[in-house]
Amino acid sequence: MGFPTSRRALLTALALGVPAIYLGRQGWQLAADPLHPKDCGPAVEAGTAAPDGTPQLAWSSRGGTVNDVSCLSRTPVAGVVDIRSEADVATALAHARANGLKVSMAGARHSMGGHAFARGGMVLDMTGFNAVTLNAADLTITVQSGATWHDIQNTIHPEFAVKAMQSSDVFTVGGSIAVNAHGMDHRVGAIERTIRRIRVMMADGTVVPCSRTENTDLYRHVVGGYGLFGVILDVELDITQNAIYRSSRRIIGFEEFPEIFDKEIAPDASIRLFYGHLSTAPGSFLRETILYSYHASGVTDVTPPPLGDVSMIKLRRLIFNLSKQGRLFHRLKWYAEKTIEPKFESCTISRADAQTEAEQCLVSRNEPMHDSVPYLFNRLDHETDILHEYFVPRDHIVAFVDQARGLMEAHEANLLNASIRVVHKENVALNYAPAEAFSLVLYINQTTDAAGIAKMRKLTGALIDLTQEHGGRFFLPYQLHYSPEQLSRAYPEIETFWARKRYYDPDGRFSNVWHRTYGLED
Ligand SMILES: Cc1cc2nc3c(=O)[nH]c(=O)nc-3n(C[C@H](O)[C@H](O)[C@H](O)COP(=O)(O)OP(=O)(O)OC[C@H]3O[C@@H](n4cnc5c(N)ncnc54)[C@H](O)[C@@H]3O)c2cc1C
Repeated sequence: MGFPTSRRALLTALALGVPAIYLGRQGWQLAADPLHPKDCGPAVEAGTAAPDGTPQLAWSSRGGTVNDVSCLSRTPVAGVVDIRSEADVATALAHARANGLKVSMAGARHSMGGHAFARGGMVLDMTGFNAVTLNAADLTITVQSGATWHDIQNTIHPEFAVKAMQSSDVFTVGGSIAVNAHGMDHRVGAIERTIRRIRVMMADGTVVPCSRTENTDLYRHVVGGYGLFGVILDVELDITQNAIYRSSRRIIGFEEFPEIFDKEIAPDASIRLFYGHLSTAPGSFLRETILYSYHASGVTDVTPPPLGDVSMIKLRRLIFNLSKQGRLFHRLKWYAEKTIEPKFESCTISRADAQTEAEQCLVSRNEPMHDSVPYLFNRLDHETDILHEYFVPRDHIVAFVDQARGLMEAHEANLLNASIRVVHKENVALNYAPAEAFSLVLYINQTTDAAGIAKMRKLTGALIDLTQEHGGRFFLPYQLHYSPEQLSRAYPEIETFWARKRYYDPDGRFSNVWHRTYGLED
């Protein structure tokens, strides 16, 4: 005997409604904006007592803990001081000297291993020290070190653009110089190549200018020196015209990449920005690759519109976070990147207005670089996403990625993004690229409990060993999951680096968690 119609309708409504409500709730949670920065590191003892403050120091907090974007670096500190002027830096350093405090500088705190703070130390929050001055005639800008690339773009658009920066704009100039950051301009290389001059305040309060030709040794240690030599006050940087580019993408098998790069990308001077994204989907995992290129278009009669924020944040965040839920969703994300995203790319000249097929999407240089990645930040508890970057000699890249794929599978890594970058020989003291290289950037999800941390530590150690078998190096702003031996194998110059640190900062005033972990300071 069948159910009465009304009961059947009720059961059908329940059968459809309950999962729909559940999925709706889950979807809402996966797409929701973060309420505040995540702070989920292991519990620590209470912070050291705040020192006796001097009235002129703008403490934004006393005692307590600070964290970075990994949310796994919670560290007790003496307090955080807001920096608004050069005089504030001098006052803070004087206070630190008088009270025997360690000092660290914090930018956007996107390094992931406590590089921006020291246990019990005074943290200088540089983000309010952010004036940007355009010197249009020289094609340079003078910026205070707490300015972000976002601030800079908003000041110099529509005529000018940044020459070298990371692939997103959330970072401060000080934090970027301190790691010698690099991004999608595959011809220019890392930020060091665009620095005209830096002014640095040393631990004793003196201000020293440095550059490729002035106080060169100090310069080579401040750039890529993780804030251990002095406070970067301001810097003069080369900029470039905000030219109009034609964007294009092409899907290849990763094994074809080195030949395509050598024969087509590297020799083509019209390509101004370039990077690749590798698939994270089952079936094509780290094989299928989208190459993104931005070509000089020759279009000069267009004034780029004002820079807008990234569109469809919630949808992007939903797709990104869904991809953490398993293989089906990884396929969905890769499908969306291959087939849906191109249709929504924001173009300076819309497709409808473009005169020819070749002008399909015209963007100004600032547009792909004006991405504050808000969709990467979420409200999900008990999990976080961690970056890795491995630099390998160019002729090793295919073999390296083949073996990295095996490691990722064996360690069941939840890989969310993988990209390939072009890196040039750099000339700083602690150098991730002593020769031309390609780099593999990985963004991997983990749980924030002890099991998640242990799993990531194992995977990181294995990826570093693999990189070293290929004669490569790894990027240092990320989690401190490597041994001192792995560090000195990758960076044989590290002992000299520590020796120069002791020379320039004999009292060890500048310190941070990374320095305490590997710098063997007593
Ligand atoms: C999502 C994400 C994407 C990333 N993408 C890229 C990329 O495309 N390319 C790349 O190269 N890197 C990339 N990184 C790494 C990033 O460039 C570094 O972590 C960088 O240091 C972040 O800048 P920040 O302003 O957050 O610096 P913070 O993390 O706050 O500080 C980093 C270091 O700089 C020092 N420092 C900060 N300000 C000063 C100052 N005024 N004077 C002296 N030292 C100072 C700090 O003490 C610390 O040692 C990425 C990181 C994340 C999380």
